[in-house]
Amino acid sequence: MPMRKITLRNGTELPVLGMGTWNVGDCTERRAEEIASLRAGIEAGLRVIDTAEMYGGGRSETLVGEAIDGVREEVFLVTKVLPSNASFEGVRRACRNSLQRLGTDWLDLYLLHWRGGVPLAETVRGMESLRADGVIRDWGVSNFDVDDMEELEELGGFCAANQILYNLEYRGVEFDLLDRDRVAGVVNMAYSPLGQGGELLHHPVLDGIAARHETSAGAATAAQIALAWVLRRGDVLAIPKAGTMSHLRENLLATELELTESDLAALDGAFPPPRRKTRLAMI
Ligand code: NDP
Repeated sequence: MPMRKITLRNGTELPVLGMGTWNVGDCTERRAEEIASLRAGIEAGLRVIDTAEMYGGGRSETLVGEAIDGVREEVFLVTKVLPSNASFEGVRRACRNSLQRLGTDWLDLYLLHWRGGVPLAETVRGMESLRADGVIRDWGVSNFDVDDMEELEELGGFCAANQILYNLEYRGVEFDLLDRDRVAGVVNMAYSPLGQGGELLHHPVLDGIAARHETSAGAATAAQIALAWVLRRGDVLAIPKAGTMSHLRENLLATELELTESDLAALDGAFPPPRRKTRLAMI
């Protein structure tokens, strides 16, 4: 079954599953498998790889550069600029440094990692200048709540994506932000969709649902249920991080799963949907 796709404002179609890379490249012993997992994901048809200048002070970008060497055209490469580098000149400089570490001369999507002290209008100018230079194809933001998105829209920029915390434990964005972004043509990218591999993956309700589902490789896991849940809407692109081949395979297989009404009701019981506005959470 072909993987579902999500379409960016510029018409680019992307598989709804991507790959995160926070904490990769930090440990020499894990390096080879981290690279192999990313390569296996690309070979399996995944396109989005997400990194940031912040991750490991550039180590993640360097590792990603190694993983995409020779297959750059097949990858939709996303990296992020720190708020402290988000001035007009700062964005341009940070972008050059990221490109060097990544071993490429363009980014598919460049995000402001979170909102800092630099006026948004200046960051947008920096982003637009990089786009005009052809160095980035698109730009976007991360950790922007509804009011931030409204302010951004007023500046008249062309924001393609908003990368936000979204998993069963953090559902606040269902109240407003997810719909707001979709209507505005901004793709939501869900980070930490597996709850960073923590307690969420040991929750009895997820285990119970997993026991009722099968993938083509056998019994489903709680992680696959957590991921299938994030992907259920069809308008959210998830970027779980898999540092091992087995996790990567498992995450790919999660796209085969369709949660039933009763699965969704059980998950709503254990992780209630938001009833009122809560400020966007971030990690
Ligand atoms: P995730 O929710 O993706 O969880 C990653 C953890 O889950 C790792 O410990 C990983 O272990 C484990 N894992 C992966 N697959 C499985 C599986 N199938 N079964 C069990 N465990 C599994 O957390 P992240 O915080 O890494 O979020 C994903 C990505 O989102 C980041 O890597 C980063 O690219 C981005 N991000 C962006 C932020 C922002 O502010 N914009 C903030 C946080 C993240 P292992 O490594 O051993 O495979």
